[in-house]
Amino acid sequence: MPQPTLLSIAQTGKRCTRLPAGDVPERDLADLVPVHHLREASPRLPEVSEPEIARHYALLARDTFNIDRGFYPLGSCTMKYNPKVNERIAAMPGWALLHPDTPAPHAQGTLRLIRELEGWLAELGGMDAATLQPPAGAAGEFCCVRMFRAYHDSRGDERRTRIIVPDSAHGTNPASVTRCAYTATTIRSSGGRVDLGELGRALGDDVAGVMLTNPNTLGLFETDILQIVQMVHAAGAMAYYDGANMNAIMGYARPGDMGFDAMHFNLHKTFATPHGGGGPGAGPVAVKEHLAPFLPVPRAVERDGALDWDWDYPQSIGRVHSYHGNFLVAVRAYAYLLTHGAEGLRRVSEAAVLNANYLAEALKDTLDLPHAGPFMHECVLSAQSLASETGIRALDIAKALIDYGVHAPTVYFPLIVKEAIMVEPTETESKATLDWFIAIVREIVEQARSDPQLLREAPHHASVRRVDEATAARHPKLTWG
Ligand SMILES: *Cc1c(COP(=O)(O)O)cnc(C)c1O
Repeated sequence: MPQPTLLSIAQTGKRCTRLPAGDVPERDLADLVPVHHLREASPRLPEVSEPEIARHYALLARDTFNIDRGFYPLGSCTMKYNPKVNERIAAMPGWALLHPDTPAPHAQGTLRLIRELEGWLAELGGMDAATLQPPAGAAGEFCCVRMFRAYHDSRGDERRTRIIVPDSAHGTNPASVTRCAYTATTIRSSGGRVDLGELGRALGDDVAGVMLTNPNTLGLFETDILQIVQMVHAAGAMAYYDGANMNAIMGYARPGDMGFDAMHFNLHKTFATPHGGGGPGAGPVAVKEHLAPFLPVPRAVERDGALDWDWDYPQSIGRVHSYHGNFLVAVRAYAYLLTHGAEGLRRVSEAAVLNANYLAEALKDTLDLPHAGPFMHECVLSAQSLASETGIRALDIAKALIDYGVHAPTVYFPLIVKEAIMVEPTETESKATLDWFIAIVREIVEQARSDPQLLREAPHHASVRRVDEATAARHPKLTWG
């Protein structure tokens, strides 16, 4: 018998707290808000008591997997542990309660944080300037592709219509291309990396840019990266670096040094902001000097020791977000960078890479490993042989892991690997946790041979069992029926 839901226990008139009636006359709402903005009736929220609502949220928390609860090897998403000190600092009232319209002279600390963080990110990326405005990685991509267009247009070069994206790219890359009214040209990878022949054939004087992820979504470093960027520039196109995988290379390699013109960071991935529940995140963008005039406005500038907002960038693409982006995510990243320092960031990347290679090595005889390492921060295994032998697929393994208290890895992505299981352990996991995970995967694979039906029905102990994922994605039900 499942616990009653909030809606089934709601009763008209139940309250958490009853305050005495106020002795200050209430103002008519219609005096404060234009009448056409007022709702006609109060929202129909469930009316419940305080213990009931406390229990409701505790139950939701119990049924929600999170990084503080267990191992979360969701490839490409960098689900690392988020140090609590970042939360403390982001919650400080000086940051959290400052109104975004506060005049610059009264927000000097905030402007300084923005400016310093932009500088640190530019430095980490080997770039010249940065903006914190885009609220997610995808928004950073959109922002940069728009800057590419503005750059080409500013030179009277308006015939470029295409952007090249490898077939291993994250889906947001071609989506950003389309949103900027360019056409995405997909090129096939070979051996898990960009194929120079394919790239050469796709390039031309109608190409505005190329978007690359390095290390790519297979966890492989693009060994021909310098030549790739050279070819892109020789065609007059811009090179875009999808920085979602920065966790692999911090302090070791910089996209700017590889020749890239623009990049985004995912603060919520690399710099430890809790994510996975839909946000908020932040996707700051860093660019080389020649693209800086096109960055979003306003930009934080320093003049005679005072910080200010500067709107005077006539070539700017304008705003890409209200105010200054998801500022408190930037505060967490700032705290994370300060607590780690340059040497700490190098050690983060070292451990992330070591952990991914440890898992790949330990599991390469249990599942297929379609592309040999060495890997960077993640590795992509495959259940293809297991599926043809037993009928048990990547999806079944993902579901079975839930019963062990492990979040499923990313499955069926990247699209170029059949039955892909993409595992990103991150640097914050111990060897003991990795060994435990390895043992679980081996046990599940044994079960695929001995009792496959059990796996087909997994998870057995979760509050939600198998769902129709295609329908859930295509026709989401966003309200309680
Ligand atoms: C996560 C990710 C993105 C998109 O970032 P969001 O912050 O989720 O919008 C883009 N590319 C890659 C490779 C990613 O892993």
